[in-house]
Amino acid sequence: MILLGSTGSIGVNALQIARQFGLNVDVLVAGRNIVLLNEQIRTHSPSIVIVADGVDTSTINHPKVLQGEQAILETIASSKSMLVINALVGFAGLRPTLKAIECGKRVALANKESLVAAGAFVDISKIQPIDSEHFGLWYLNNNPRPIQRMLITASGGAFRDWPIEKIQEATLNDALNHPNWSMGQKITIDSASMMNKMFELLEARWLFGEGEYDAVIETKSIIHALIDYQDGSTTAHFARANMQLPIAYALMGQVEQNILPSVNLLEVGSLEFREITAQRYPIWEIRQELLRNPKRGVVVNAANEAAIDLFVAGKIGFSEISKRVIHAFEYFDVHPNSIDDVFDIDTQVRNYIRSQ
Ligand code: NDP
Repeated sequence: MILLGSTGSIGVNALQIARQFGLNVDVLVAGRNIVLLNEQIRTHSPSIVIVADGVDTSTINHPKVLQGEQAILETIASSKSMLVINALVGFAGLRPTLKAIECGKRVALANKESLVAAGAFVDISKIQPIDSEHFGLWYLNNNPRPIQRMLITASGGAFRDWPIEKIQEATLNDALNHPNWSMGQKITIDSASMMNKMFELLEARWLFGEGEYDAVIETKSIIHALIDYQDGSTTAHFARANMQLPIAYALMGQVEQNILPSVNLLEVGSLEFREITAQRYPIWEIRQELLRNPKRGVVVNAANEAAIDLFVAGKIGFSEISKRVIHAFEYFDVHPNSIDDVFDIDTQVRNYIRSQ
C-alpha cells in the first residue's frame, strides 16, 4: 500500500492494522514528524519515503527520500501498489485522491475534505471511506429494505457541556480537549464546532446518494450510525471508539478476525442522546442548504481551513470560525462545474477569509 499521512492519528492506526495482518507497505508519506517516521521506516521497510517540503531529508534513515506534492503524485502513478490510503489532512489531500483514481487505484479515504470539496468530481466506486460513521452506515445498509433516514452520531466535541456564552472565549487548548476520541488537531477543532459532523453528512450524501440524512449527539461515541427503515424499525451500529475497525475494512474488504473487544452493554450502563442546536453550534444553521447544494462544500471547506489557520495562529477567537464560514457561504453562492472550478473557488475563498 501507499500510505499518505503515516505519522498522523489515522496513519498510525493504519500501520498497526498493516502489521497485524502482514500487509506490505510500499510508500510512506509524512509531514514533519521525522522521529516517528524513522521508527515506521525501521518497522515497515518501505521502498520510498516522501516528506513535506522544507524538511531536512538527511535526518531520514532511508536511501530514497522525496519531497513535496509533485513527488506524491508521481509516486502514486509509478508505484505498483494498487491501494492508496489517504490520511492527509485538509484540501491538500484532494490532488492525491484524484491522481489515485485516475491511475485506477483503490482509495481508502480518511481525507474527508476530498469529498466535501469535490464530491461531484470524484469516482465514488473507487473509494472506501475510513470514518466510523460511514463505516457504520455501510455495515447496517446491507439488506434491500426501503430506508427512510440515515442517522450518524456526534460526540458533541469539546464544548458540548460548556455554558454557551463562554464558548466565544475558548482557547485552542480548550478546543483540543475532546471528550471521547484522540485525533489530529484539525478534526478535533472541527468536532468542537460541529463542522466535522456537517462534513460527514455531506460525505454520506456523496457516498450513499440522495436521501434523508441527519445527525444526533450520542455522548459516549458507542453508537456511530443508525438507519430508520420505512417499516418503522431502526438498527444501530455499536462499536468501541477506535478507528482500527473501519481501517481494517477499508484495507481488506472482508474481516473475519477480531479487531476490537465487543461493546459491553453492562459497562456502558446508559446512553444519552441530545439534539444538535444552532445556538451551541452556529454552523448547524447552514446544513440543510448545504445538503441541498452539496457542490457548495468547496466554499465551506476552504473558509473553514482558512479560519482554523487564523484561530490556531491566535488571530481570531473560536466562535469566529463558524461566523466566517457562514458569511463566506452566503457571499460565495457558487456551484463548481469542473474540478478546475473547485481549485479556483478554493483559492478565492481562502483569500477572502484572510483579507477580512
Ligand atoms: P493528523 O493531523 O493526525 O495527521 C495528518 C497527517 O498528514 C500527518 O501524518 C502529517 O504529517 C501529514 N501531513 C500534513 N501535511 C503534510 C504535507 N504537506 N505533506 C505530507 N504529509 C503531510 O490528522 P488525522 O489523522 O486526525 O486525520 C487525517 C484525515 O482523516 C483528516 O481528513 C480527518 O478529517 C480524517 N479522519 C480522521 C479521524 C481520526 O480519528 N483521526 C477519523 C475520521 C476521519 P506530520 O504529522 O508528520 O507533520
